[in-house]
Amino acid sequence: MLRYRILPVTAFAQNTCLVWDDATQEAVFTDPGGEVDRLLQAVVEAGVTLRAVWLTHAHIDHAGAAAEVAQRAGVPIIGPHPGDQFWIDALPQQAQRFGFPPAKTFTPDRWLADGDTLQLGSLPFTVRHCPGHTPGHVVFHQPEARRCWVGDVLFAGSIGRTDFPGGNHQQLLDSITGKLWPMGDDTVFIPGHGPESTFGEQRRSNPYVRGT
Ligand SMILES: [Zn+2]
Ligand SMILES: [Zn+2]
Repeated sequence: MLRYRILPVTAFAQNTCLVWDDATQEAVFTDPGGEVDRLLQAVVEAGVTLRAVWLTHAHIDHAGAAAEVAQRAGVPIIGPHPGDQFWIDALPQQAQRFGFPPAKTFTPDRWLADGDTLQLGSLPFTVRHCPGHTPGHVVFHQPEARRCWVGDVLFAGSIGRTDFPGGNHQQLLDSITGKLWPMGDDTVFIPGHGPESTFGEQRRSNPYVRGT
């Protein structure tokens, strides 16, 4: 069975998530943006074995600690999509600009593409490429548990910013309606910031995507 614990990190309260399969006690971190000691402590507390770091995109609050977590835990970095290479290369400058601790660049052990499958213990996740907030943004969907980790594509009551380099508002809307909505209204999403919600609730009440 899928289990997870949300750990907001950095000044941006970015929802790093420890996700695990309680059948095998194997775990991954999605978007480890910072506070490495605290994150690794959470792995110990949960009694799980970290297998990988999964990245939705390479903004500093999501990927700033990816290299350090991967190195200290001895696990690979999976994702995002190659469209975010320029954001990975710019991690040191992003850290400086936003007042983060120094961040290391890295080369993902595996880049992701739309339709890829990731395995966590006994649980398969489907990768969807959802550009718009960044060109290489991906989301992680676990259909049986009806859960999706969406990074900064969609929030409860809002959508991702598109005013950064490579951002595109129409592309973001197309990603939401074309890739997220087909997962079903009862799917719970874990956004990069703020509380969880369902796609159905956002289609009813989110002013940016209401009625789509
Ligand atoms: Zn972002
Ligand atoms: Zn973010």
